[in-house]
Amino acid sequence: MNTHDLIIVGAGIVGAACAEAAAAEGLRVALVEPGPVGGGATAAAMGHLVAMDDDPAELALSAYSLGLWERYAQLKDAEFSRCGTLWVARNARELEAVPAKIARLAQAGIVAGRIDAAQLYALEPNLVPGLAGGMRVPGEAVVYPPRMARYLVDQACQRGARLHAGRRVVALLDHGVRLDDGEVLSGPVLVTTGVDLPQLLPELPVRPRKGQLVITDRYPGVVHHQLLALDYADSAHGDAETSVAFNVQPRPTGQILIGSSRQFNVSHREVSLPLLRQMLDQAFAFLPVLRELHAIRIWTGLRPATPDGRPYVGQVPGRRDVWVAAGHEGLGVTTALGTARLIVDGLLGSTPAIDPTPYRPDRAVTGMAA
Ligand SMILES: Cc1cc2nc3c(=O)[nH]c(=O)nc-3n(C[C@H](O)[C@H](O)[C@H](O)COP(=O)(O)OP(=O)(O)OC[C@H]3O[C@@H](n4cnc5c(N)ncnc54)[C@H](O)[C@@H]3O)c2cc1C
Repeated sequence: MNTHDLIIVGAGIVGAACAEAAAAEGLRVALVEPGPVGGGATAAAMGHLVAMDDDPAELALSAYSLGLWERYAQLKDAEFSRCGTLWVARNARELEAVPAKIARLAQAGIVAGRIDAAQLYALEPNLVPGLAGGMRVPGEAVVYPPRMARYLVDQACQRGARLHAGRRVVALLDHGVRLDDGEVLSGPVLVTTGVDLPQLLPELPVRPRKGQLVITDRYPGVVHHQLLALDYADSAHGDAETSVAFNVQPRPTGQILIGSSRQFNVSHREVSLPLLRQMLDQAFAFLPVLRELHAIRIWTGLRPATPDGRPYVGQVPGRRDVWVAAGHEGLGVTTALGTARLIVDGLLGSTPAIDPTPYRPDRAVTGMAA
């Protein structure tokens, strides 16, 4: 049967989460994915489940989603590891920003605490001497995103969703889609194609923000928390054409994942060696021990960035029965579960747990009210 309650285009972490949530509500779901499930930006991600406090809307969606992630905290497939996040202050000036950050996170229900230099080195003895302290968010975690996407799709399929694997949507129709083999599926459509969004919905601008990561061989115990510089948000949320920031993650395997870079206006996937040098210089400056370790792999991915940094979540204005959940930039793993809930609540007409207005796509479509 080709009639569905929801046709989801793209099985990254966002489409996968939406498929799971919709199927759990009893909707008849079709999911279309030309490549591997979770093989887009999702496969390239660090998988850090983190709340950034500099945009209230992003914080609200992240905090909501972090609560939903707790469902999977014991799930082996998620490779969920509650390592906590440690934001590192290089000097007293950076440390001064911490109380305000703690207060903003607390308002969103996230517990964080200020730590002094002695506490910092007790938690992470391999950090370079001379740092001032920082902020610890003990409840945050990391997951393995492509595996989680696969798990969510499997859950949806067990509830009757149909995965059209190896198929691509080539056109949005009036109340449906056409696949690349000519098959037509009919029903409301949800576009979750990440950085490829403009191919199907050109009225919603998204541009790639390239990132690259390095992973080491296994060295258990070298770091214990996801470590970030306190100025990380300047890179993550700034407009600089190219930026790097200290961001290091202990994988449950004992491997160390080293990030991260951000580059606009680059859509090819090749590794940039000069940028790699900058990233590693940053990482070595905080963690000199990394110089001794063997890196085994480097890869890149394209974050889907909207002009205002917030994802598009909701109904697409001017189109019949077309919804969108895309443009999550560097937080799409964290926010996938909350996004899925907002979409399903919107479809069912249920009251959402958080205000969906800041993510409404009509803010981006010319001539529409925000
Ligand atoms: C280097 C890097 C590090 C990151 N680290 C983190 C992190 O630590 N924490 C975090 O929360 N986020 C992180 N992110 C961001 C996160 O990866 C993304 O926000 C998220 O994966 C976006 O998911 P998505 O499902 O929207 O897109 P994608 O994963 O790209 O999925 C989109 C899917 O749509 C499919 N598709 C495209 N066109 C069509 C079509 N016409 N028909 C059918 N299917 C189609 C694609 O094949 C793809 O599988 C990182 C990203 C990068 C690049």
